[in-house]
Amino acid sequence: MIKLTDISKHYSLADSSVTVLQSLNLSVQERGRVAIVGPSGSGKSTLLLILTGLEDATSGSVTIAGQALQTLSSDQRADLRRDHIGIVFQSFHLIPSLSACENVALPLEISAASNTRTRALEMLDKVGLLERADHYPAQLSGGEQQRVAMARALVHQPELIVADEPTGNLDNATGQLIMDLLFDLNRDSGTTLLLVTHDLELASRCERTLRLQDGALSEVSMPAAKQGTTVLP
Ligand code: ADP
Ligand code: MG
Repeated sequence: MIKLTDISKHYSLADSSVTVLQSLNLSVQERGRVAIVGPSGSGKSTLLLILTGLEDATSGSVTIAGQALQTLSSDQRADLRRDHIGIVFQSFHLIPSLSACENVALPLEISAASNTRTRALEMLDKVGLLERADHYPAQLSGGEQQRVAMARALVHQPELIVADEPTGNLDNATGQLIMDLLFDLNRDSGTTLLLVTHDLELASRCERTLRLQDGALSEVSMPAAKQGTTVLP
C-alpha cells in the first residue's frame, strides 16, 4: 500500500539548509497497522506530507496504492487522495465556515456521492459528536475538532488512513473510542493504518512501531500495553 524508497528531504532556509529525512525507506502492506514515534521535530509530519503527495521529497520515490507519485500531476495526486486516502492532519484543517456535518460531508460532495448528509451524520455519531453536527469549528474544543477531522477522513471509506497524533487532544475515554474505530476498520474492512503517535497504547495495538530519528526509521519493540500509560518519547 505504501512504499518509500531512499527518501531525503532538505528545507532550504535563507543561508542554510535543514536535513529532515535522510535515505529513509518504508514499506507498509495492505491491511498493515504501523505506528511511527519519534521526538518532536524529527520529521514525522513532514514524512506524512511526503507520502500523501502534499509535499515533494528532495529525492527518492513514493508509491501509494500502486501509483508512483512522481509520475502524477498535482490534480492526479488530489484524485489519488480523494479515492484512496483518509488524512487526519495534526492541525485538523477544518473549514471554519462549514459546520461539523458539512466538513465531514465535503469529501462525499467532492466525489458527487449521494446521501451525503446522512452519511456524514452516521460518521459523526461513530466519533460521538452527533449532537454537535451543526456547530462550527470555532464552537468546538480541540478534541472535538480532532474527532470531526477523523470523521471527515473516514467518511469515504478510504483504503489507507494516515493520521498525525489522532488521540493527541483526547481524554482517555474518547481516545479509546477513536482507537477502537480505527482498529475495527482495519480488522473488518482491511483498512491500512499509518499512525504518528506518542500514545503507547495506540502504538502497542499496531503490528509494527517505527521510530523516526536522525532522518531515518528503525524498528522499536513495544512492551505490552498498559492502561493509562500515554507517554512515548
Ligand atoms: P515532527 O512532526 O516530528 O514534530 P516536523 O515534520 O513538523 O516534525 O518538522 C521536522 C523539522 O523540519 C523541524 O525542524 C521543522 O522546523 C522543519 N520544517 C518543517 N517544515 C518546514 C518548512 N516548511 N521550512 C523549513 N523547515 C521546516
Ligand atoms: Mg508533527
